[in-house]
Amino acid sequence: MKDGIHPDYHAVTVHCACGHTFQTRSTIKGQLLRVEICSSCHPFFTGKQKLIDTAGRVERFTRKYAQAAEKVAAEKAAKK
Ligand SMILES: [Zn+2]
Repeated sequence: MKDGIHPDYHAVTVHCACGHTFQTRSTIKGQLLRVEICSSCHPFFTGKQKLIDTAGRVERFTRKYAQAAEKVAAEKAAKK
């Protein structure tokens, strides 16, 4: 192999948001790779319909749009 042109391909630990960890190899910087979904929690592999919302993203989404709906309702009320 030619020197200085190949990325450092090393062992890394993949840590999923569901708590599952496994070893793989990657060219990323550092020894730890954090992912949100993996084969032990993805619905395709688990057969379960529902995604586990570990990051609270669904909650944040509903909160955000609840605020927007309130604003629209307030504007409508002000126009009348
Ligand atoms: Zn996972």
